[in-house]
Amino acid sequence: MSYWSLYFLAKVGMHYSGKIALQWSLNLLLLAFLVWPIASRRWQRARLALALPVAVVLFYRESYLPRPERVWSQLSALSSFSADYMLELVQRLVKPMEVAAAVVVLLLYSALAKHIRFSAIAVLAIVSVPLSVLMQPDAGGGTTAGMAPAVQPSAGPAGTAPVAVANDPDSQLKAFYAAESQRKLVLSAGGQTPPFDLLVLNICSLGWDDMDFVGMRNHPLMQRFDAVFTQFNTATSYSGPAMIRLMHGTCGQMPQKAMYGDLDPECYTFPSLEKIGYRTQGLLNHVGTFEGYGKSVEKFGSLTGKMVDSSKAPVHMQSFFGTPIYNDYALLSQWWKDRQTLGAQPVALFYNGISLHDGNLVPGLSSRNSIDTFKPRLATFLADLDKLLNDLEATGRPVVVMLVPEHGASLRGDKLQIPGMREIPGPRITLVPAAIKIIGGKSSAPRQGPVLVDQPMSFFGLFTLINDLMGNSPYAENARPMSARVQGLPTTQLVSENEDLVVMGNQAQGYQLRLGNGGWVPYGQ
Ligand SMILES: [Zn+2]
Repeated sequence: MSYWSLYFLAKVGMHYSGKIALQWSLNLLLLAFLVWPIASRRWQRARLALALPVAVVLFYRESYLPRPERVWSQLSALSSFSADYMLELVQRLVKPMEVAAAVVVLLLYSALAKHIRFSAIAVLAIVSVPLSVLMQPDAGGGTTAGMAPAVQPSAGPAGTAPVAVANDPDSQLKAFYAAESQRKLVLSAGGQTPPFDLLVLNICSLGWDDMDFVGMRNHPLMQRFDAVFTQFNTATSYSGPAMIRLMHGTCGQMPQKAMYGDLDPECYTFPSLEKIGYRTQGLLNHVGTFEGYGKSVEKFGSLTGKMVDSSKAPVHMQSFFGTPIYNDYALLSQWWKDRQTLGAQPVALFYNGISLHDGNLVPGLSSRNSIDTFKPRLATFLADLDKLLNDLEATGRPVVVMLVPEHGASLRGDKLQIPGMREIPGPRITLVPAAIKIIGGKSSAPRQGPVLVDQPMSFFGLFTLINDLMGNSPYAENARPMSARVQGLPTTQLVSENEDLVVMGNQAQGYQLRLGNGGWVPYGQ
């Protein structure tokens, strides 16, 4: 058996610490195959040649890694990263203490293997896995048996009946998407000119959990908003899909696979804004070349020829692949100045900022590690936003600011992901501080901080609120207060996706993760 027992024991250990889902019966089979006495040297070698790839494939299937094609495509994206960011990632992955511990275990194992029958211990360890499941109070086989439905499919638009709640997660997911596909919001300002400009701030790498992690959840800037969404789900943990979901935000949530096919043209947010009288514009604080981001914004936002040039703005840091990142405040305050020359037609701006992305190099800070640099970068960003809000307020022109981050930074990481890794779209990454602020007109009435919206919500709920503000001007005499407007906004239960990984559920009943192989496992963080 040589070192094979260590392979099984290590996997059982990883199973109990929640890092893999051990397939105990296949492991027992493999172990039996390995311990079967064979005299011939040649046959022993043949057995080893067969067992090694089987062991690797089995381990891969038990891990929570996405399918190999996905891993491969992600690895090829790494080639565009700068060398010192790659080094930074390797340092996060390989912890000296863990390497030292592994060496100690290996030495101990070698020394003790002559005296202790580790193969017998390995058998007992593997068998303990099904036994431990049987001993659980509500054991019943299958990971989801006995579990309450994690997702209550959200009610459709007014007038449609809620869908029956299914028990197994695949049916729940199907029911969720069936209900979401019925949702469509037709933007309308009641036939009038929309009463305000709309500034959409789509910020990369800012989650509630990141703000918690650096102790800035209750930053005074958040108090300046009129509505703050504490359970806003971006439904993804990567920039490209996040932008597409935002640009498609006037319709219900669609499966990730549908996003790159033919979409209903009436679901496109920015063309819909244009239809009701907006001049639309786009602005990025970066060059937009990574994974064709800029081109996608033009495509999904219908913003070709409407992108504002950012290349003259001051550079305040370098991205993880070595390109300039422009100062958020400089760009946005300049845009606002230029906007004043554009006349009365309301303007809707899509702004994308990546100042908080992992691996950015900030002048004066030697580290690229977000653990060191995120807090000062966030402080700068929030101060910039604060100054921008002052500028917006100073002109008196009515404008609604929509803060809607793309996804969190995964600053804390979790059991399955190192800090900064966002492959599994867990709630710590996809729940972000979305917020709305109404500026100008008569909106300066004294108020007591923002209205908190703590229902599960996504883009559809956010745009329903924007639509309400457009149709029932917040600047009118006796305008409805925000607290009344957020009542009854359409909720969206948490379902988040990346390629073939899906996370769904809620905090009370727990989250479930669908793996690349289609199986579901409970997703603890
Ligand atoms: Zn992003």
